[in-house]
This record gives sequence, C-alpha cells and structure tokens, in this order.
Amino acid sequence: MSSNIRIQRICGYCGNEFEARTTVTQFCGDACAKKAYKAKQKAAKIENSNQETRRIIAMPIEEIKANEFLTIPEVSKLIRISRRTVYRLIEKGELKAGKLGRRTIIKRSDIDRIFEQPKH
Ligand SMILES: [Zn+2]
Repeated sequence: MSSNIRIQRICGYCGNEFEARTTVTQFCGDACAKKAYKAKQKAAKIENSNQETRRIIAMPIEEIKANEFLTIPEVSKLIRISRRTVYRLIEKGELKAGKLGRRTIIKRSDIDRIFEQPKH
C-alpha cells in the first residue's frame, strides 16, 4: 500500500470528511475508531441478548419446566413475570440464585419453594 495516496472519505463514526492514507481507513482518527469499536461491541451484546430472548420466547414452556437449572429469562417466562421482577425477588432474598460466571442460575426447586412457603 502506498502512503502517498490521499483519499477523501467520510468517517464511519462521526460522518466528517477526512483524508485517508489507505483505501481501508474507515475512521477519521483513533478516537472515532475506538468509539466505533465500542459501539460495535455493544451492538453485538444487544444482538446476543435479543437472540437469547427470541430463543426463550420460542421455547415451549414444557421444555423450560423440564430443566432443573434456569436462567433469568426462563424463570420470567415460566412464572410469567418480568425479568425486573425476577431480579427484585432475588435482591429481596425471596428467590435463591447462584452465579455461574456472569450468568445467574436459579434452581427450579427454589421456585417451587416460594409457593410452598406460607406467607405471614
Ligand atoms: Zn470521525
């Protein structure tokens, strides 16, 4: 690649015009390249999460019931409450949860226990 070329390009992040030295340069500078990279990572994370949600929405309830260990979205679908509510139950100590790496895992038997406990 020759460094003598000057190509007018539009930054893929901020949209400003800049002079690129190579034909593969996408961003006007390091700052934009870094921000674009972060945005891409974030988008990938959201896409992963959306995929996970779609997978669980499509999953028959019987299949969820058959698991002894459940994730938050699975618990949310199983007892038809929002994920936020599941998190709140865990925070309040009403629902036991374990951490496996970054995932929160709930035992199905612990869910059953909530309904067995006499309240007040
Ligand atoms: Zn830029």
